[in-house]
Amino acid sequence: MGLRTADQFLAGLRDSREVYYRGERITQVPDHPELGVVARHVAIDFELAEDPRFRDLASRSKLIEAATGEGATLVILIKEIGTDALFALKRVLSRGGTAEGSARLEAFYQRCRREDLALAVAQTDVKGDRSKRPSEQEDPDLYVRVVEERSDGIVVRGAKAHTSYAPCVDELIVLPSRSMAPGDEAWSMAFAIPIATPGLRLYASDFLHGLEDPWARPISTAHKMVETLTVFDDVFVPWERVFFHNRPDLAGATALTFVEFHRFTAVSYKLPLLDALVGAGIAAARANGIERAGHVRDKLTWLAGYAETVRGLIELAAQRCGFEAGIAYPDVFTTNLAKWTFARDFHHALDVVQDLAGGLLVTGPSGMDWNSAEIRPVLDKYLRGAWPADRRMAVLNLISDLTARAYGGYQAVLAIHAEGSLEAEKLAMLRAYDSERAVGLAMRLAGLQDVLAGAKA
Ligand SMILES: Cc1cc2nc3c(=O)[nH]c(=O)nc-3n(C[C@H](O)[C@H](O)[C@H](O)COP(=O)(O)OP(=O)(O)OC[C@H]3O[C@@H](n4cnc5c(N)ncnc54)[C@H](O)[C@@H]3O)c2cc1C
Repeated sequence: MGLRTADQFLAGLRDSREVYYRGERITQVPDHPELGVVARHVAIDFELAEDPRFRDLASRSKLIEAATGEGATLVILIKEIGTDALFALKRVLSRGGTAEGSARLEAFYQRCRREDLALAVAQTDVKGDRSKRPSEQEDPDLYVRVVEERSDGIVVRGAKAHTSYAPCVDELIVLPSRSMAPGDEAWSMAFAIPIATPGLRLYASDFLHGLEDPWARPISTAHKMVETLTVFDDVFVPWERVFFHNRPDLAGATALTFVEFHRFTAVSYKLPLLDALVGAGIAAARANGIERAGHVRDKLTWLAGYAETVRGLIELAAQRCGFEAGIAYPDVFTTNLAKWTFARDFHHALDVVQDLAGGLLVTGPSGMDWNSAEIRPVLDKYLRGAWPADRRMAVLNLISDLTARAYGGYQAVLAIHAEGSLEAEKLAMLRAYDSERAVGLAMRLAGLQDVLAGAKA
């Protein structure tokens, strides 16, 4: 089997998977009015493979950016996140895993390639009391764990949170979400299972629910993402799908190595959103007739500088890449700096674009009013700016969707939490920074050459 078409991919979602949405069990995901929109959104990845415009794109970052651009600023993710996990597992197993685990991973990877599979990754456990380790929690199921070891495999129980696109993929990769210590053996494993595995239950969030009024919500009615509470109700995983288990020493390394790749993916898929915000901000300034005002130029300069700083950092992270187990990995410090820079300033970018656009973002008319022959002349007359009302409202509706409605709120939380919190990025930067290079220079300038790198004065 080679690359699948979008239709072949959608047909593959028709199986016995257990998906719940808005209080009911959904049997055919592609036919559901809203989950079907999610499925067709991710099918863009399969269409892209056939599209000659993208054939020459050899850079992973540029491919991810192009796919998200085709997805109207919403990431596709069903190839990206799975490869982040597979690359991470390959590196970690090459350092300290068993030969058997590596062979199982390689067989799974080859199958994903051969059958052109779509993948989700369940890393984030529900976690319970954040101050406690898995083995210290009142309920041991708050981190996914092995409850039984059998001759033919393991049985796992527990739940993961926020699993993106799980109802619309073929396979789920499960990774530990943190470092583990002796005593946490039962929680220290990595494996992959088909979505249609008995006992695997997906409770989908409806946060981006709603199909009405594409005029007022030009992106979010056509493109949707979905996350699940992913419950493992004594799920059997055969040995050939288990990459490691009972290995607290591999858990933390897997969690960290995964996010090294995944944050690079994240920043790459943020670029179309940032470009859209810059473009919409400039267009709003023009539509409102304020483009030449000093404060507006200042805000637009900041906005463009922010977007290009993030773009420049992710390009630098790729240029500074290292190699391990035959895989190129992005520079850890620069990747985290890119992600932190993006996330730290994203809310300010929303603030700037909303400021330039004005209050119609939340007080404007609906598509029903806009399409009413009686009301429309009033709107045409009074909602014009430097641009006629139809063009001005198209820009303001785009900004409203991007920054003020549910989609805007979703992107704002995604910026802060997805791929790890701001604090996680700062910790990773601190760990990866080559401080001795800077200290060495400072010591030399201070005339303290005798203070050796790493030594205390
Ligand atoms: C839209 C979206 C999509 C996502 N997709 C996926 C996905 O596909 N797969 C996946 O596995 N995950 C996914 N995530 C999960 C994401 O990685 C987590 O949201 C993130 O790691 C934060 O975890 P949390 O949501 O449990 O928040 P928490 O970890 O509870 O964070 C809340 C706050 O508590 C702080 N905190 C947490 N623990 C501690 C501690 N021990 N000590 C001190 N402070 C602490 C954090 O720094 C933060 O400030 C997604 C998240 C979002 C929002």
